[in-house]
Amino acid sequence: MHPTPVWDHVVINTQDRTDEAVAAFEKLGFTMTPRGYHSMGSINNLAIFGTDYLELIGIPPGGNDERLGLFRFPRGLNGLVFGTDASHEVAAAAEAAGLPLQPPREFSRPVDLGGGVMEDAKFRTINLAAGAVDYGRVYFCHHYTRHLVWRDEWRRHRNGALGIARAMIISSDADKTAEVYRKLFGNEMVSRVAGGFTLAVGLSRLDGVDEGEARKQFGDAGWECPQMLDALDDADDLYFDVVSQIKMDHWSRGRVGLIGDAAGCISLLGGEGTGLAMTEAYVLAGELDRARGDHREAFEAYEALMHPFVASKQAGAARFVGFFATRTKFGLWLRNIVMRAMNVGPVLRLVAGDIRDDLELPQYAI
Ligand SMILES: Cc1cc2nc3c(=O)[nH]c(=O)nc-3n(C[C@H](O)[C@H](O)[C@H](O)COP(=O)(O)OP(=O)(O)OC[C@H]3O[C@@H](n4cnc5c(N)ncnc54)[C@H](O)[C@@H]3O)c2cc1C
Repeated sequence: MHPTPVWDHVVINTQDRTDEAVAAFEKLGFTMTPRGYHSMGSINNLAIFGTDYLELIGIPPGGNDERLGLFRFPRGLNGLVFGTDASHEVAAAAEAAGLPLQPPREFSRPVDLGGGVMEDAKFRTINLAAGAVDYGRVYFCHHYTRHLVWRDEWRRHRNGALGIARAMIISSDADKTAEVYRKLFGNEMVSRVAGGFTLAVGLSRLDGVDEGEARKQFGDAGWECPQMLDALDDADDLYFDVVSQIKMDHWSRGRVGLIGDAAGCISLLGGEGTGLAMTEAYVLAGELDRARGDHREAFEAYEALMHPFVASKQAGAARFVGFFATRTKFGLWLRNIVMRAMNVGPVLRLVAGDIRDDLELPQYAI
């Protein structure tokens, strides 16, 4: 017998940037659970809803990604997870329907209940075989300890979120995409809709539609959606990123030295990362020549000259965060006006101060 589709949770892959993702989701008004540590090496934070949840999953810095392979997937929505209390039957039904599965996984993570009480949350998952779908991971999660996940103190969210309203897959071949769900849950749970199919998932649903239908539904969603949808026409890949800086304590170890963004990315907010990278390359090459093969001496001289300078540039760039990534309509208006006016020299000097750098570049004999 086919299982009834209900959401257990959706998974967002954060790779090794879980802290940033948690901060972003908290800013969006979600209450995130304390960090969880799975017995299989991954880490997570959850936004628990009424009967389902959203999971930010990642790998701790330097952690082992062998079992989950999160780095093989892009960051972002990565897992559609259906709930079951009968994982053995689910696996048997999927196999009978001809769906290849991975061996079941059993794992746990300790949950701190406060007052020094710890308990292990335990799970069993049934995953479709790798490659069964080309948009991430689809699996069932069987909770042995539901009381350690759906706890009331985690279920309220400042933004009013109550549950997963809908998931959508954009697919150029919606019939093929639907096939997996027809096999998993039975034909009667999957209906044709404009541009694709919909699977009833409890009171929610999973839609698989072509790009035209997605454009129809989200094209007038405002903000930057129209530009993003337009960009889809020419891009075979699209991703969003956060603006970040790289701060290294040291720029060399052994015979390996760093320059450019790897040493001290100041971010696009500074607007001169390329020039700095070239300056660092020039100084490092000059110092290597001057030290006549003693790379330790060259690395030291290079870093003594450039590291404090780059650190001051990073601090300068950070001061522009509020200006570029403003949160108000007025801020946006002001930013756009100022950016346009920057083409006028006196305005540029007024806004950015004297942007000439006063780094005295050494003259090398190369
Ligand atoms: C949106 C944006 C706007 C910007 N605007 C400006 C601007 O107006 N002016 C300015 O000066 N700077 C700007 N910058 C910053 C500038 O782009 C960078 O500071 C500069 O590119 C750094 O050069 P780099 O050589 O250190 O690193 P990168 O240009 O990032 O080069 C590193 C290269 O290494 C490759 N690589 C990474 N890992 C591996 C691996 N394991 N094996 C092989 N190859 C690998 C990458 O694919 C990449 O090609 C901007 C940056 C961004 C993101």
